[in-house]
Amino acid sequence: MVSRCCSSSSWSAAGAAVAARASANSPPPRSTSPSSRPSRRAMESALGTAPRRVRIAVVGDVVFLLLSLRTTIHSLLRGGETNHGCGTGVAFCDSMLDSVQGIRGKEARPLERIRHNDWALEEDSKALQFLQPDLVLFTGDYGNENVQLVKSISDLQLPKAAILGNHDCWHTYQFSEKNADRVRLQLASLGEQHVGYKCLDFPRIKLSVVGGRPFSCGGDRLFRPKLLLKWGVNDMAGSAKKIYDAAAGTPEAHSVVLLAHNGPTGLGSRMDDICGRDWVPGGGDHGDPDLERAISDLHRETGVSIPLVVFGHMHKSLAYGRGLRKMIAFGANNTIYLNGAVVPRVRYAQPSPSYEQCQPEGSVSVAPTSRAFTIAELSEGRVEKISEVWVLVSGARTELEEEIVLYKHSREHM
Ligand SMILES: [Zn+2]
Repeated sequence: MVSRCCSSSSWSAAGAAVAARASANSPPPRSTSPSSRPSRRAMESALGTAPRRVRIAVVGDVVFLLLSLRTTIHSLLRGGETNHGCGTGVAFCDSMLDSVQGIRGKEARPLERIRHNDWALEEDSKALQFLQPDLVLFTGDYGNENVQLVKSISDLQLPKAAILGNHDCWHTYQFSEKNADRVRLQLASLGEQHVGYKCLDFPRIKLSVVGGRPFSCGGDRLFRPKLLLKWGVNDMAGSAKKIYDAAAGTPEAHSVVLLAHNGPTGLGSRMDDICGRDWVPGGGDHGDPDLERAISDLHRETGVSIPLVVFGHMHKSLAYGRGLRKMIAFGANNTIYLNGAVVPRVRYAQPSPSYEQCQPEGSVSVAPTSRAFTIAELSEGRVEKISEVWVLVSGARTELEEEIVLYKHSREHM
């Protein structure tokens, strides 16, 4: 069970304001300017604390279509309305909406397509400056081939790694011979930070990020097989081998974090399991079999340590309002599996009167938002803590609005 926990965090230790909204007894939030806060590295250096924890910020799937719970396919067929409800929702891809529109007829009012562009470079940079991660991981699905958004992610001035998801090749079935197609443009934007089937080393933190299969849609079939030929992959076995080879080549002293768009098979088949099918009665395991095979072979045949496997794709809110997904799971060899797809990852808040007053005259005010990240902290190659955090960004002000502790080492996980 996921508990909301208001434990003090290393953000508070670094002097940051902490407000755990889940607690009725918490003190009211205090604002803290990023510039007035001593950096975590400066604090740790001054205190001589060692070894330093490695902090990883996970940005889950950032764009999707949301229709409210009340708007099921059924109501769509009857001409029902859509709205922006946050939280419990069900996502439909463009082609599904087109199909429903087709059934309803051309004369019917067009269905509302709601795209949450839940990544904004300026706002998310402020939030990340507050969180001070050593590394940022992006799990894919940046829109339906949204080249501009991917470019914006590549502009983030922090160490990072990313993988493309199934929505990032939604319209492209194979690489174009003549033009720079949108998949190619996204890969070019990310450059070496796209880790699909390869390894990216971060020597300063003694960590390597190894990518799983790009474009995964989950299940036992390859999605966009013609695109995967770029990596010489024809089938699941070949895909597992590519992941294995990338991880086996990491420096000996490094911990390996696997980054995939979807998680592996073998972690449960209930609807609310970490990769469970939530859109069909009875559920089912919708994990990637190649990823499970690669991890299993690495554990069995190599000394590679894989403390953490990070992915997205399967959203935290289950389809049709069936509740919330389990976002972490525990495997063999002390490997922890983390689903970072907290979707939508942005909550919009009304500006307070005091906020409005603080805005310089004539300035364009951006509405305050709370932005979700999943933070994993590692020490000596072991996961110490995992939290879902929401950071309020209001103009120049940032503060921790909510922290939901998913796992803490040394205590039984919650
Ligand atoms: Zn996906």
